[in-house]
Amino acid sequence: MNLYLHIPFCASRCSYCDFYTQTGSRLRRDFLDALIRELHLRRVELPDGALIDHIYFGGGTPSLLTPEELTRIFDTITELYPLTGTGEVTIECNPDDVTEEYAQALSALPINRVSMGVQSFHADDLTFLNRRHSAEQVFAAVEALRRHGIDNLSLDLIYGLPGQTEERWLTNIRTFLSLGVPHLSAYHLIYEEGTALTRLV
Ligand code: SF4
Repeated sequence: MNLYLHIPFCASRCSYCDFYTQTGSRLRRDFLDALIRELHLRRVELPDGALIDHIYFGGGTPSLLTPEELTRIFDTITELYPLTGTGEVTIECNPDDVTEEYAQALSALPINRVSMGVQSFHADDLTFLNRRHSAEQVFAAVEALRRHGIDNLSLDLIYGLPGQTEERWLTNIRTFLSLGVPHLSAYHLIYEEGTALTRLV
């Protein structure tokens, strides 16, 4: 059995994104209380003898959570749920959130894998997609995580951007390969209803 925890907050809205997410933090405290409560309520759904193997923090942007907030969630999980202790514990991060201090804080938690939304290494693509990080921040985040012992990394890239040539996509792939990161998720851009990108089209 695995646990997925959805953190529906983002610092800003990417132009292509139709996930449910809020860019304000007004509800954050209430949300965390509700998440802790749901962890308690759903404990009865775990069959007798079952163990939790993998844990995944998705979003939204889970890296908006402070180390203290993550500690509160992990304390609840370890109090309530039997864990195998050998599974992947992944958090999705925005590259600009992964400072040296944040990487160090993640390494002090049970987290052993980080998935980062990169989408492109081209600055103009990042502007077009309304991403709030640069390629340099991705490189710095990868290095910071490795320095703190987290080397099980995954990066997301998006292909099929308007006007994207094969060469520009290959540049993204080559840059990804040069980082030596073990996993890539490649997504085709979709014009989702209600997004800024679709309005632009
Ligand atoms: S960071 Fe992720 S969840 Fe948040 S708006 Fe961008 S794509 Fe959507």
